[in-house]
Amino acid sequence: MLNILILRLSSLGDVTLLVPALQAIKKAYPESHLTCLVKKQYRAILDGSSLVDEVQVYEGFWPTLRALRGRQFDVLLDLHAVLRTRLLALFIHANLKHTYNKDTWKRYFMVFFHQRAKASTSKSIIQDRPQHMRHTSDRYLDALKVIGIGVDRVVVFQTAFLGDAVLTLPLMREIQKRLGPKKLCVLTRSEHAAIFEREGYETIKDDKRGGDSGFAGFWRVRNRLKTFNFDLAIIPHRSLRSAALAWCAGIIVKIGFGNSVGWWLFTRQVPFHWKEHDSERNLRLLDMLPNKPLLGSVESRIPISQEDRLAAKNIWSNIEVNLAEDFVIGIAPGSKWETKRWLAERFAALACALANSRANAKIVFLGGPEDRNLCADILNFCFSDSGFRIPDSRLLNLVGKLSLKELIAITGDLKLFISNDSGPMHIACGLGVPTVAIFGPTVRGFGFYPKGKATKVVEVDDLECRPCALHGGRACPRGHFLCMRLITVDQVLKACEEVLA
Ligand code: SF4
Repeated sequence: MLNILILRLSSLGDVTLLVPALQAIKKAYPESHLTCLVKKQYRAILDGSSLVDEVQVYEGFWPTLRALRGRQFDVLLDLHAVLRTRLLALFIHANLKHTYNKDTWKRYFMVFFHQRAKASTSKSIIQDRPQHMRHTSDRYLDALKVIGIGVDRVVVFQTAFLGDAVLTLPLMREIQKRLGPKKLCVLTRSEHAAIFEREGYETIKDDKRGGDSGFAGFWRVRNRLKTFNFDLAIIPHRSLRSAALAWCAGIIVKIGFGNSVGWWLFTRQVPFHWKEHDSERNLRLLDMLPNKPLLGSVESRIPISQEDRLAAKNIWSNIEVNLAEDFVIGIAPGSKWETKRWLAERFAALACALANSRANAKIVFLGGPEDRNLCADILNFCFSDSGFRIPDSRLLNLVGKLSLKELIAITGDLKLFISNDSGPMHIACGLGVPTVAIFGPTVRGFGFYPKGKATKVVEVDDLECRPCALHGGRACPRGHFLCMRLITVDQVLKACEEVLA
């Protein structure tokens, strides 16, 4: 049962205008206990109404505070938004407090423009003045969006890395399932848009490292967002830019993590638990909306379409891989951050050992265009006089040759996948491919570990400098790089055997 307190202390008209909001709450939460704080003279409007369970009369600041402070509410909605109600809201116990948008500044501007327009015949002043404000009862209804009522247009902010984008997919599916919004979009980087588009989600691009960098770019993205008129922004990305974009775009309800840099701009902050897996942690952002998420029953598998299957079939036939006979193993040796990359010569030794482990084994190297040089180094090690001795038809190089959609399509066909702590690792896990991940400066405790039964992390357990960075870095701050150098090829091979078993 949701225990809701509404503060509305002003006139008869305002209390009357509460009715649509009260009706909406009772319809969405029939079991809720609704308490309304009103002035004594307006008590009669709500007394005996089936919409309100309890009418609390305002008897002055201190007596009212004394009466309400001993109680615990789930939700406090301040639908008056004056100093008195803001102070009351500050001291009353409630899990979620929300103040409606009174548009005070807009009112002042309207008065200002009205005065100027009266005093002037200037056409531009008359044209520029704000024409209207939303109706008060509509703004009351807007405030209910904070508890999920009337949420039609939802946007998810995820402009971090590829892995973060993949781990946001369960959140998107859950929003679709639970809220069924008329519009569900995701704000993402152009290079990651395919991750969402292939599942049918509309994307809004934020090229924050390219054309949308700087303040002008920020404002362009803000304008892009504003045209959609979103009701609710769910913001798993913890940057100040994301929080500021949601705020500047005028999105009514903004839900993000309490440890986000821009937490103070959110309507609601959700605690961030480091130990939880990122995909589950993201679902916590929906906790205040109707029907809490059922963790565990959430669809975390990445679906593979008929179109994906066809694309994969073409790629395999182009590189002469026969899936019915070959045991295809994928290796993604890259990472955006240098310290998250295991050593190239060890990836080479691993690839050769795996290729020699079965007569039908084929190793496919995967990655983006930025990983081309790294893969060339690995292949040089394989074919040099290093003693690995491997027939070159067993080592296939698709690094930099696939689109993101194609990468997902062929990853689903792999028998085994090995990578660093990187985005392709999350794609492989999402597709249910047995996965071995090599972790250096990052740890599972950050919540970005490979998820699923057939997964394994290879790492150095007792290195006192681990972890040294949330995302990894350009160079080892200690200079010894032991977190990766201490991981042997045999350890990774053993982990591969374990996940395959
Ligand atoms: S400081 Fe330690 S954890 Fe960080 S990169 Fe160096 S060896 Fe790895």
